[in-house]
This record gives sequence, C-alpha cells and structure tokens, in this order.
Amino acid sequence: MNIKEAKELLDLSLEELSNLALEKKKKISKDFVFFTHNFHINYSNECLALCPICAFGKPLGQGYTLSLEDIENKLRDLKEKRKNILEIHIVGSLNPELPYRYYISLLELAKKYFPEATLKAFTATEIAYLAGQEKKSIKEVLSDFKVAGLEVLPGGGAEILKDELRKILCPKKVDTKTYLEVHRTAHNLGIKSNITMLFGHIETWEDILEHLSIVNNLYNETGGFLVFIPLLFHPKNTKFEKRVKKAFPSKVYRVIALSRLLLDIPHIKAYWIMLTPKIAQTSLLFGADDLDGCVYEEKITKFAKRKSPDYLDEENIKRLILDVGFTPVLRDGKFNIKKIYKES
Ligand code: SF4
Repeated sequence: MNIKEAKELLDLSLEELSNLALEKKKKISKDFVFFTHNFHINYSNECLALCPICAFGKPLGQGYTLSLEDIENKLRDLKEKRKNILEIHIVGSLNPELPYRYYISLLELAKKYFPEATLKAFTATEIAYLAGQEKKSIKEVLSDFKVAGLEVLPGGGAEILKDELRKILCPKKVDTKTYLEVHRTAHNLGIKSNITMLFGHIETWEDILEHLSIVNNLYNETGGFLVFIPLLFHPKNTKFEKRVKKAFPSKVYRVIALSRLLLDIPHIKAYWIMLTPKIAQTSLLFGADDLDGCVYEEKITKFAKRKSPDYLDEENIKRLILDVGFTPVLRDGKFNIKKIYKES
C-alpha cells in the first residue's frame, strides 16, 4: 500500500468512496454478506491494565469473574436453547488471580459443549500477558491453547498500532511490535486471526492509514487474517468521556470504505453491536461484507452504554442484508459457508 496514493482517497466524496469500495467488494465476495450464530463469553472484567479507553475493565475485587462452574452452566443452558451456534468468542481482562489452567479449562469446556463451533479466544494482549505470567514464550502459550481447542484469535486490542498513541490510549497493553508478533506466531502455528482498529478518539487520518498499512503488510506476509474490523470508539464511561465526542456516521462510512480499498484482507466487518444495526447496514454500501452475528450475550460494549440491542435474531440480520440488495450467507468462525439464503 502506497501511503501517498492512499492519502488521495481522503479527498473523495462519500459517494465516490462507496462506488469504488462496492466495486472491489463485489470482485471479492460477490453480493454476499456474511453473518453467524455466535455466543460471547466475557469471563472477567477485573483487570490490571485499566486502559483509559475502556469502560469494561474494573480494578481487582471491584468487577466480576466467572468461575468455571458458572461458564459450564452457561454453556449447558445455551446448548439446550440453541443448537445452531457456529462460533464461540471468548475474551476478558488481564486478571492475575486466574491460573493458567483456568484458560485451558475454559477452551476445553467450550469445545466439549460445542465441538462443531469455531473456537475464537483471547486477544493478543491476553496471550502476551499470560506468557509473561507463566514465563512461557508466546509460541508455547498459543501451542497449549491450540491443543485445548483454540482455532482463531479475535482481533481486539489492536486499537491504533502506533506506540505514541498506545501510550495514551492503553499504556499497559502490549506495544505494536508484540501485538503483531502474537498474530504472526499464531498464523505460523496454523491459527487464523481477526484484526481490529479502534477509531473515533484522538487519532488522525494519517494514523488510520498507517494502521491499515501495518495490518496489510502482515497479511501479505502470512495470509493469516480472516477479517478486518473497524471499531467505533464509545467514549461514555471511559477516561475520554469529557475529551472526545462519538464520531459521526459519515466517519464510520469513510473508514469502512478506506479499509475495503486499502486492504487485501478479504472480509471487512460492520460490527453492529458498536455501530447500531442501521449504521452497520449502511456500511454494507461502503464495502463491508460481514455483519458479525446474532451475538448472544456481549458485555464489553454494554459498559460503554451502547445503543444497540442485546442480540439480533437470524430473521433481523437477514432483513438488514436483503433490504440493501445483498444475499445473506451463514458462515462459521473461519468464514466457511454454511448456507446461502435467496430472497423468497
Ligand atoms: S481494554 Fe482490556 S486490558 Fe484494557 S482495561 Fe479493558 S479489559 Fe483491561
């Protein structure tokens, strides 16, 4: 990616960006828009890092931590209610009170109850933290987790991959080099991953372009990213609440289109939980081709007072996709197609 050429895209109108992004999206994923049936487990919010951008993390002893028994009960309950879960997404916090064995058991439990679902767990920050806590290498931790069932790493924690900004946004999280090293190591072990970008805080458009460039370089090196996820920052209940206003939808659409145009990663996600279903739907006209999923039980953005509903059922997601002229496609967590829905 040539940053100088990329900068020229910043001068285009929303209509021009939409036209270009849709043209590229159609070459890659035709008129498909993907979604899945997924369940989130946010195992703890008690966190050492207390990042200024985070409304979810709480000091140790002041948040919640799910026991393995709590988690097994949730999984058992889910299994009775929903037979069609295709992806389990597990992320939490940096909690020094949880032993290494807890994480292994968590993966094993998810796999035991949902052997057919893709197991996506632990951000690069959590992996690097556990490696430090256990005095293991990143490769050893990822290998242990792979044996326990881990298949995909979620993309959280990338924020903006520029250390100068990370020191302000999330000073205790891994630096850019370590973040990328965790993903590179995962890809080399055959574990795919997702990758995010948190925007709408103190970043500039140049920071966004640099982030996209760094991400694309690693994708071209390993081919290991499944989807890129631009995440809209919600300042409510964070240390930035008084300093930053939530970005306008037009910024969301520009970021989605730039992501589609500048990245070689095949899928771009409009994460409705953070965007609202309506803005996520419009993002499909700017090159996004994935609406995430039904998202049963997500807690992280609830703490930042998001306006989106708790979950969307399959009919609602399909309607969002069909109403802007695309074809809904059910996928698993590795983007294997499970069903293509034609409008009846
Ligand atoms: S973003 Fe993650 S690491 Fe930072 S405070 Fe929140 S839970 Fe902890």
